[in-house]
Amino acid sequence: MVLDASVMASAAAAANRHPQGSSSTTAFCSTTAKSLLGLAPSVRFGVHEKLSHGHGLRIRATSGDSNKVEVPRQWYNLIADLPVKPPPALHPKTHKPLKQEDLSPLFPDELIKQEVSEERFIPIPEEVIDIYRLWRPTPLIRAKRLEKLLETPARIYYKYEGTSPAGSHKPNTAVPQAWYNAQQGVRNVVTETGAGQWGSSLAFACSLFGLNCEVRASYDQKPYRKLMMQTWGARVHPSPSTVTNAGRKILEDDPMSPGSLGIAISEAVEVAAAHEDTKYCLGSVLNHVLLHQTIIGEECLEQLAAIGETPDVIIGCTGGGSNFGGLTFPFIREKLKGKLNPLIRAVEPAACPSLTKGIYAYDYGDTVGMTPLMKMHTLGHDFVPDPIHAGGLRYHGMAPLVSHVYEMGFMEAISLPQTECFRGALLFARTEGLIPAPEPTHAIAAAIREALHCKETGEKKVILIAMCGHGHFDLASYEKYLEGNMVDLDFSSEKAQASLAAIPQIVP
Ligand SMILES: *Cc1c(COP(=O)(O)O)cnc(C)c1O
Repeated sequence: MVLDASVMASAAAAANRHPQGSSSTTAFCSTTAKSLLGLAPSVRFGVHEKLSHGHGLRIRATSGDSNKVEVPRQWYNLIADLPVKPPPALHPKTHKPLKQEDLSPLFPDELIKQEVSEERFIPIPEEVIDIYRLWRPTPLIRAKRLEKLLETPARIYYKYEGTSPAGSHKPNTAVPQAWYNAQQGVRNVVTETGAGQWGSSLAFACSLFGLNCEVRASYDQKPYRKLMMQTWGARVHPSPSTVTNAGRKILEDDPMSPGSLGIAISEAVEVAAAHEDTKYCLGSVLNHVLLHQTIIGEECLEQLAAIGETPDVIIGCTGGGSNFGGLTFPFIREKLKGKLNPLIRAVEPAACPSLTKGIYAYDYGDTVGMTPLMKMHTLGHDFVPDPIHAGGLRYHGMAPLVSHVYEMGFMEAISLPQTECFRGALLFARTEGLIPAPEPTHAIAAAIREALHCKETGEKKVILIAMCGHGHFDLASYEKYLEGNMVDLDFSSEKAQASLAAIPQIVP
């Protein structure tokens, strides 16, 4: 799609950066692979080692087109390769390690197995692959015009997940979640949504399998998202509501509560737990969600290999951590194997900085305290973030797996104010054409910082961006920015002090 003209140039540049190697594929090819091939350096160009599926080496020639790769057939479970395993989830009442049957009222058996699995690869069901093919493989695009505008020697690529029916990475997990529920004979699922991206993704997935879908929506900022959910047959209820104990409790304390993702999760979990025939779905944070999202990174490894590129920096935005983990975990595997060594950087909003300003502790995933306790970076389960435009990043916690990887030092994190993010988004839209969702503007703005840094130092780094969705339903945010009415909402450490004090004390 993009790359024909640039392939030779980038290959040459990549070879320069790895002077000990003789072709652009060096970084991806182990010595064994090369000696197996026994090819002359000139012939080796365009031949790559398949890294992603653990079938051992599979060598094949490519035409150098990053978009002629196959849809991966397995998800990757990073837990299998971590030198230290993440701490277990705990029962919310007893504080004892959670048992699989504790989760049975909420999730179908296969998803519970995936949640606690230590298998390295988990096969993707054939029917799910068939649905993935509606929009996968998603494009890997070189942002040549943005590079030119920035006058940077860096090469910038973005992996674009906005081609899915719902316009983001979320259907990557919505489809298998709906499928496993349907397989187990479940008829109804209930979930929460913040900005509406998850609700619409699950509504789409449920429509494929005839499941009833109920969405608890934390605020009504994106009216067209609600209509998408309804078009796909879902029922949408505002949250907080008076039909659940959780909602009533919140409204008693604050009748004007604007709601939050954490509150909507409490309501959805309560509905699922109270109904035998109803299960719960979550759009981020949990191990099985991040597992499903690794299809992004697996595919991207193949695409980069096909064009002989090696990322030096990988940047993604983090709300609950699923698009970030989905892209980066397969790269962390390669890092642990010593095959690649990219710097991996999470970017969070300055107004909701769970990694950079939160603490690493056991906390609830919801506001009321009904979910299991998870060891994660958190601002406190009753922290209600300011209403920034990146609604998908307004969550008090961070995926336990991303938190653990951060603690282990395999990645770093920064936070950015939203006006810088939208400034970056406009540069991106006016050079690359795509209008990003407010969430990935964080990754784009951080990539622009990195590219400008390269301009100063003259480094020809390869920067890879997780461009996880489009912003077609977020134009009201763009309107605010374009009219000059967008302000940066400061993180209030007093507010966080109060919510951090409410984190349960776990005696180990
Ligand atoms: C939901 C969403 C996010 C935030 O969730 P993560 O789990 O951190 O990925 C970010 N971007 C988009 C486009 C989303 O829909």
